[in-house]
Amino acid sequence: MMRCDVLTLFPSMVESVLNTSMLSLAQEKGLLDVTVTDIRSFAHDRHRTADDRPYGGGAGMVLKPEPILEAVDSVCARHPDARIVMTSPRGRQFDQACAQSMSEDSRRLVFICGHYEGIDERVRTVMAAEGREVDEVSIGDYVLTGGELAALVMIDASVRLIPGVLGDAESVKEESFSGALLEYEQYTRPVEFRAARVPDVLLSGDHGAIREWRHRSSLASTYARRPDLLKEGALAQGDQLILADIQQKERAENSDSPRRLSS
Ligand code: SAM
Repeated sequence: MMRCDVLTLFPSMVESVLNTSMLSLAQEKGLLDVTVTDIRSFAHDRHRTADDRPYGGGAGMVLKPEPILEAVDSVCARHPDARIVMTSPRGRQFDQACAQSMSEDSRRLVFICGHYEGIDERVRTVMAAEGREVDEVSIGDYVLTGGELAALVMIDASVRLIPGVLGDAESVKEESFSGALLEYEQYTRPVEFRAARVPDVLLSGDHGAIREWRHRSSLASTYARRPDLLKEGALAQGDQLILADIQQKERAENSDSPRRLSS
């Protein structure tokens, strides 16, 4: 069971995704519990102001510290050991290991979603000074308009690892990033489509041969798309031999193919 709070200026953006597909099902199954809170409800002035112009000048607006910290205080009053996750392009990068750790964390996860130019730095420093652990997390080296999608990405990637969320527990065992390799190629019906056939071995019913083919396909996919994952020494000897064979076949194919004329 994963328990989360999402603090945001745009609750409907978060709720619309939470009410769809697997995230909605996970909540129905009692495996995910998310409370979405509008940061503005912790602003005290007549206009519910949650952002203001940046000191020092410059473009855009910055989220004020008081409403966010009050929202965090209100969650922590009920859940003192909550893990605060601050979405930020400056944070450590989210990956599958992070998703695994979130899915297994028994503490409440409180996602703070920034917007506009970002969040007043004192949200982070005040929480740290008060002894609260703040996990500043980025979902990649690019800048989103707000932290809502980042929080949803983290929740989605984590919740699907909780046993019982996906129909078939096997789904997460062999997929990309669950081990060192990317997932093998997948096919479904029809057997033939625009002259492209499903590999015969997948139709053979020979489970040993299918397992072998899939392992080789995983290695080939990783070699073609993410060779950085095949770190030196990380491959078992058997896999090194398969990889050498894949590389040799690739070289042979390249030398067979007719040379292109430069235009
Ligand atoms: N001015 C900030 C900067 O240059 O670092 C970017 C602010 S961004 C437009 C607004 C908010 O979106 C951030 O406070 C954060 O909550 C969220 N955000 C943007 N990119 C993100 C990323 N890659 N990962 C996680 N959150 C992100």
